[in-house]
Amino acid sequence: MIIFETTNFLLKKIRFDAKRYLQSFGRKQLAYVLFLAVLLLYYLFGHVLEYSDKRLPETTVVMEQYGQRLEMNLSSKQTDTIVVLKEREHLLTAIEERIVAYLYQMPDYSYMTSLEVYLKYRPELLQQFPSAVPLEKGDYVLSSQYGIRTHPISLKTKKHFGIDLAAPLGKTVYATASGIVSEVIYSSNGYGNHIIIKHRFGFESLYGHLNKILVRKGQKIQQHELIATVGNSGNSTGYHLHYETVKNESKIDPIPSLNLKRNVYAELIEQNNNNHGE
Ligand SMILES: [Zn+2]
Repeated sequence: MIIFETTNFLLKKIRFDAKRYLQSFGRKQLAYVLFLAVLLLYYLFGHVLEYSDKRLPETTVVMEQYGQRLEMNLSSKQTDTIVVLKEREHLLTAIEERIVAYLYQMPDYSYMTSLEVYLKYRPELLQQFPSAVPLEKGDYVLSSQYGIRTHPISLKTKKHFGIDLAAPLGKTVYATASGIVSEVIYSSNGYGNHIIIKHRFGFESLYGHLNKILVRKGQKIQQHELIATVGNSGNSTGYHLHYETVKNESKIDPIPSLNLKRNVYAELIEQNNNNHGE
């Protein structure tokens, strides 16, 4: 009862105060509030734009500028090393910020080519989005591409939203990036037994027609971690892994992502060998 009365009293007081406040609201205050609202909208809109692909060209230009400065810095023969090292550190951070913005903004892997040259400065970012093959080398054959195809069962023309990697029963399946398991589904149709992993930058990966699933929903996964084995569950005509990549809720072609990490590291190793050879 006491609680009820107190609440009632407080509500009345708030109502009264609000009324009085609104009455005393002058034009000056109104202009001020409107100004604040516009400022807030401007801030929110800017933030949304930061993560939209409309900003991609801008991000690319800034990244290129930092990249050129970094190349100059790296080849510098200056004796004042502290200044050079400080600048290098600053440029690497600036480049990382641009790479991160670019990864959020890009709609699919076809935009990756402009980014690939800069990833060698921050190769650890490759762990956080699909950049590898989900099966072991020699275990699989690419049996179906992403895109329009005739479905092997229904014989209807349909878009294939992933790629098929034919592999024998029980071959091990690995996460193509670190992330969190968002779905573990056991089913006898569609994708069959399948896993979805959520990664950074709006990426997701899906592994379908599995035999055994070795992870559970909500589990934190590292890149290249063993997650399942190849099977033939669901709507499938033979042992294979159906692999999908999703970016900002849209299914995208995973093909350019498969050798991404390998290519960047191959370049790093080559660079390293050259430097030691000097
Ligand atoms: Zn498939």
